[in-house]
Amino acid sequence: MKQIPLSIPTLGGNEWLYIKECLDTGWVSSVGAYVTMFETMCAQRCGTAHAVATSNGTAALHLALVTAGIGEHDAVLVPNITFAATANAVAYTGALPVLVDVCADTWQIDIALVADFLAQHTHIQGKKIAAIMPVHVLGGMCDMARLRQLCEQHQLTLIEDATESLGSTYLGLPAGSWGHMGCLSFNGNKIITTGGGGMLLTQDSDLAKRAKHLSTQAKIDEVEYLHDAIGYNYRLVNLLAAMGVAQLEQLDAFLDKKKNIAQAYREALAGVGDIQFQAHLPEVEANEWLFTIRTAQSRALMAFLQTRGIQSRPLWTPLKQQPMFAQCPYLSQGNISALVHREGLSLPCSAQLSEADQQYVIEAVRAFFQGKS
Ligand SMILES: *Cc1c(COP(=O)(O)O)cnc(C)c1O
Repeated sequence: MKQIPLSIPTLGGNEWLYIKECLDTGWVSSVGAYVTMFETMCAQRCGTAHAVATSNGTAALHLALVTAGIGEHDAVLVPNITFAATANAVAYTGALPVLVDVCADTWQIDIALVADFLAQHTHIQGKKIAAIMPVHVLGGMCDMARLRQLCEQHQLTLIEDATESLGSTYLGLPAGSWGHMGCLSFNGNKIITTGGGGMLLTQDSDLAKRAKHLSTQAKIDEVEYLHDAIGYNYRLVNLLAAMGVAQLEQLDAFLDKKKNIAQAYREALAGVGDIQFQAHLPEVEANEWLFTIRTAQSRALMAFLQTRGIQSRPLWTPLKQQPMFAQCPYLSQGNISALVHREGLSLPCSAQLSEADQQYVIEAVRAFFQGKS
């Protein structure tokens, strides 16, 4: 039987050539020309002055929080619908994650709830509200103009979890360039991959310097091994940065493919059953990283697709329903997150997905709903 995976990497470029060069020259570890090149290319692509490569996206998120000075006396707002790593990074610092419900149409953090909350509180459970970490869920984007304005008004640090949104823009400006810092991931399922890797983006040269210092064990004397802080081993290695350069060269081609796939799904599945699509704000041009629908029958549809060899996947269980975050404060009116979780289902959308295979997925989804009506 045909097997169609949800989303797998496309490795058709210079990956092999550049990695081989690292092996041939011996520059495999945390210093090397590809690390610098990958940082420069990411900064340029994302419209920031600086980029610091990290071992993965979670490390970039943690490093951004530490660099911003977030610690145990602080609280950080995060959306309730996200991958656990967003809130884990906050918890690593000892800060309190404050969970915020999402909008029913965009599935992004509900900014009206954020604004109401900030208008009434500077502290929660004795902790100072110090930062907000919006997540651009599935490559769509949050309302960055309003978030930036709220952060200025209330003097909060704005750190974008842009791990899913490389290539997305808001008012033409890239995801990751709107906050004080932005974080990318190059995990195997992301729009470009280094196997594992991440990047911290910032316009601020002091933050960039601090982040790089902390990511390389905060060493201040190479000879005597003197350190001025508790640092981290969060640096991306040259071997993987070489792969990143090769992948980034192909980003525009991947974006074209992802957008075509999303467009074809939207046209073919509009009006089928109760299917709804993720909405984007008019300011947003989404990278369409992981095409996802909403239907009341998401789990039955997932099981049906499985019988035809088609992999699909629900959206993450909300943070509030995870045991380690169940006690966190939750800003919500009506718990939209639970609905989005119950109904969300991602469909196959690898950049290398053929038109014929996409048609096979579309026919299967249609067949499921025909059987239902
Ligand atoms: C992938 C992802 C991360 C973590 O990135 P890793 O590179 O896997 O550590 C964090 N947040 C979100 C929303 C993600 O999708």
